Amino acid sequence: MHELSVARNIIEIVEQNVPKDELPFVRGILLKVGEFSGVVTDSLKFSYEIIAADTELQNSELKIESVPFLLKCNSCGGITTNNYGLRECADCLKTDTEVLSGEELKIAEIILEDKS
Ligand SMILES: [Zn+2]
Repeated sequence: MHELSVARNIIEIVEQNVPKDELPFVRGILLKVGEFSGVVTDSLKFSYEIIAADTELQNSELKIESVPFLLKCNSCGGITTNNYGLRECADCLKTDTEVLSGEELKIAEIILEDKS
């Protein structure tokens, strides 16, 4: 199951970036997930809860921000989208395009409890 390994990765990244004594104070992890990142977000949240329950991150919640698919066309300069993740410009139908967003899977923010 792909989402389980993604969830494990997220926890490893948080453990590497937050000092060990602050891990129990992590309340949330904001994850940016592209529409075409290939991850099923419900399944990822579920996997995260299961794995985090056995770690110092047990009080944290995975928050998911969905990022729309956007394509920039190198031929006509248009920025378009489509529902299939196709690399084809919706305006001129050329395939000389760059994906601007929609395929990412990255941690945007680690939210710590305010201890002050
Ligand atoms: Zn175009």
